[in-house]
Amino acid sequence: MAGQLTLRVITPDRIALDVQVESVRLPGADGAFGILPRHAPMVTAIAIGELRYVEHGTPKTLFVSEGFAEVRENTVRVVCEAGERPEEIDEQRARASEKRARERLAGRGKPASPMPAEEALDLLRAEASLRRALTRLSVQTSAGRERVRT
Ligand code: ATP
Repeated sequence: MAGQLTLRVITPDRIALDVQVESVRLPGADGAFGILPRHAPMVTAIAIGELRYVEHGTPKTLFVSEGFAEVRENTVRVVCEAGERPEEIDEQRARASEKRARERLAGRGKPASPMPAEEALDLLRAEASLRRALTRLSVQTSAGRERVRT
């Protein structure tokens, strides 16, 4: 359809989203950026974040984890570790994940210098886990606000 994009989000276990949209805002690894119909072809890395899109005039949000996005022939194809619509997000699970990650970060004590590789990796994993949990909670909360407004 003219003036529309196909937005498809693929994760290891399912197609999280396959919709016709007016615009997409991707959480790029170097910052968020927008895609409109007739965008030039490109491939880029995406970060843990909120993928925003406008479907039939309604702004919507999807949680996405790390991956890649390809834009080609009015199709935005996102392949990522996880993707969830706000209503699919289990709030209790995200809160439990947030708590675990915070405990891992708080329990580290004074880091050795130079930090051993294993410890540095644990730190990065805990930070990424915290980012996923907080972003899931944010996606859920902002969708709740949209519902109240409409
Ligand atoms: P957890 O610590 O709760 O496992 P995680 O951030 O490590 O969270 P991921 O590796 O991002 O989890 O995702 C693993 C799978 O679980 C994916 O299929 C993802 O969609 C799903 N998932 C993870 N957390 C949630 C959540 N809070 N609500 C719904 N699905 C979730």
